[in-house]
Amino acid sequence: PAAPVTVIGLGSMGQAVAAAFLKGGHPTTIWNRTAAKGRDLVARGAVLAHSPADAVRAGGLVVVCVLDREAAQGILGPVEAELAGRSLTVLTSLSPEEAEEMAQWAAERNISFLGGAIMATPDLIGDPEAASILYAGSHTVLREYRPALELLGATTYLGDSAARASLLETGLLASMYAMFAGFYHGTALVGTDGVTAEEFTALAVPWLKAMTTFLPGQAEIIDAGDYTTDQQSLEFNKGGLDHIIRISEARGIATDVMRPMAALVDRQVERGHGADSVARLVEGIRYPEA
Ligand code: NDP
Repeated sequence: PAAPVTVIGLGSMGQAVAAAFLKGGHPTTIWNRTAAKGRDLVARGAVLAHSPADAVRAGGLVVVCVLDREAAQGILGPVEAELAGRSLTVLTSLSPEEAEEMAQWAAERNISFLGGAIMATPDLIGDPEAASILYAGSHTVLREYRPALELLGATTYLGDSAARASLLETGLLASMYAMFAGFYHGTALVGTDGVTAEEFTALAVPWLKAMTTFLPGQAEIIDAGDYTTDQQSLEFNKGGLDHIIRISEARGIATDVMRPMAALVDRQVERGHGADSVARLVEGIRYPEA
């Protein structure tokens, strides 16, 4: 039989999580500060608990998906006695330090803690092609409740250091934001000649997909720490970036997005690394002063 689960926190994400458990046939107990948000889930078979303590006692796995660390700790602190000996998964977004502290807090109370970072929006929960959740912390919790957790999305375990999921999430988000920023710049630039965002996007999507195929090669160079190359040197890329900035300025658009990248390249070139691979930029980020 499907393991019982409890979902605490029924904002847009918590509701999607609880709905996925229900759809997968798991007996699901729910609790939310504002109880009315559980109405639809109750209609689909969820049991609304009257207090966090009742909610914890009802479930096998306790899943918390409230706004932030303060909210999570505010709910969990008072029910630590009920949580002792149980499995807890916190899907609330935490910083690596917060995740580590929460894991420590749980360990001191004999609570098995698994942190999760949701790489998806609520509407994608339940689709393993689109939703991915990174987990770190207790492997036992993940193994025991894997069938339930896999209902939420693709499930990746990153090891027993609880900070790891949030750290990797942050790295992925950084990659995403910089990519979006480049897309916005490109859209504004081509727009100076009336090209619509839609037309541009039709070209940008296959282009960006193709460019991601270079990442594994770059990763190899970075991990080996050997940046000697006969292609895609920093000097070559400096020319490319200067070109983008010149054309952008000539068309009167802002260059805020492109300048930090150009500055990183300049710094490496000034330090005599112009012939090295552009992947050396990671060193300029790792060691801002070097
Ligand atoms: P919502 O704003 O929709 O919901 C917030 C939830 O937190 C509600 O259940 C709310 O209760 C509860 N809450 C807030 N403050 C308190 C408090 N002091 N005490 C008790 N409960 C509290 O947020 P989401 O559901 O979107 O997000 C939940 C978590 O999921 C966040 O950490 C978010 O970063 C993460 N996440 C969300 C994504 C998204 O796209 N939405 C994507 C990836 C991660 P009440 O209903 O009573 O206000």
